[in-house]
Amino acid sequence: MAKLPYHYGMKVRCYPSSQQKAIVKRNSDASRFVYNEMVAIDHELFQLRQVKLPIDTVQQRIKQLEQRKKTTKSISNEHLFLYHKNIDSLSLANAKQNYAKAWKAFRKVHRSGIPVFHKKSYTWKYQTNAQYSGKISAPSLLNGSVRFLDRNHAKLPKVGAIRTSSVRNKIWQMRDTVRIGTVTITKDSADCFYLSFQLASLQPFINAVTFTNKKLGVDLNTENFLTASNGAVVANPRYYRKMLKQLNRQKRKLSRRQLRAKKEHRSLRDAKNYQKQRLRVAKLQAKVAHQRLNFLHNLTTELVKNHDLLVAEELRSSNLLKNHALALSISDVGWRLFLQQLQTKADLYGKTFVTVDPRNTTQTCSNCGFLLTGDHKLTLRDRSWQCPQCHVKHQRDHNSAKNILAKGISQLA
Ligand SMILES: [Zn+2]
Repeated sequence: MAKLPYHYGMKVRCYPSSQQKAIVKRNSDASRFVYNEMVAIDHELFQLRQVKLPIDTVQQRIKQLEQRKKTTKSISNEHLFLYHKNIDSLSLANAKQNYAKAWKAFRKVHRSGIPVFHKKSYTWKYQTNAQYSGKISAPSLLNGSVRFLDRNHAKLPKVGAIRTSSVRNKIWQMRDTVRIGTVTITKDSADCFYLSFQLASLQPFINAVTFTNKKLGVDLNTENFLTASNGAVVANPRYYRKMLKQLNRQKRKLSRRQLRAKKEHRSLRDAKNYQKQRLRVAKLQAKVAHQRLNFLHNLTTELVKNHDLLVAEELRSSNLLKNHALALSISDVGWRLFLQQLQTKADLYGKTFVTVDPRNTTQTCSNCGFLLTGDHKLTLRDRSWQCPQCHVKHQRDHNSAKNILAKGISQLA
């Protein structure tokens, strides 16, 4: 996989039968079990290593645990249910690998905490890999251990043939040369199932790229979604806010049902009306998420296709989110996702995307470079202003988008 030059992520919806759902659940539970087992082993090892005295039983236990950490097989030998015929051994191997990755991520950026136990949840997830036998000379979408039977059906180990939404046209045309890597099977809290594929190929996954020589700076603000350095404004769709009233009503109903189940000493898992309502809320939330994702994908694709250089500000939304008034707008618009998508797509299309420090981009005149200080400083309310030095009139966000672009260009030079 890694040797191939072009990579692409593909996600399709899938529609498992009830037996297949049970298999997905079993694998998801098993991989969570393995992950948690790894967490538990490391917890115990940490405790045991605090013992500085040479006690034999402690030393033996340490040895035993270290042995068990080495392979998934040694974990399975302790917990024989992991050998169930419907459990995909690769899902366990991936769980172990993901645990190692979580540590790696923690050591690299200390922002994410150390790996902790995964709770039982309404979402399910496990990973497997497409394997190609040595006899296959040309690995493709159609001949691995995970493969497509036709454009609407995939076959997975243990799960079997499963109906999916259509593979997009471009990928399907390339089917004989595309190799599948890791496959993630998920169920979201709205009970929809998805397959995510890591694909790789010798050929690019997109049609020929056109270079336009255009450069664009974008300013992200709460007034609208973004203002570009060419003056274009993209309005904020505010999907979440539009849904808020309806969502809150349904959520109130959900908490009433939760209270009632609690009063009658029933577990939520068995409370039928609670579960029905939970699904209703989850579906509304999924709808908002999908709308937002769709909006962002369309926007970022268009931006990357039509510009050779894109510059945006670094996001410090963890600070911004502390401002309560801004918090809802910020999490609603999905700026972080927007920037991630720009990066991914710029890489895919061979374009350049950079982020710059947003410091002073609002308070500087893009015409003469005058920096507003003291009483001149703009507040959030000042939408337009005039430069005290060169007397050029500015629209606040347009001005900062120009500054962001200039910063990005000088950063690259
Ligand atoms: Zn000026």
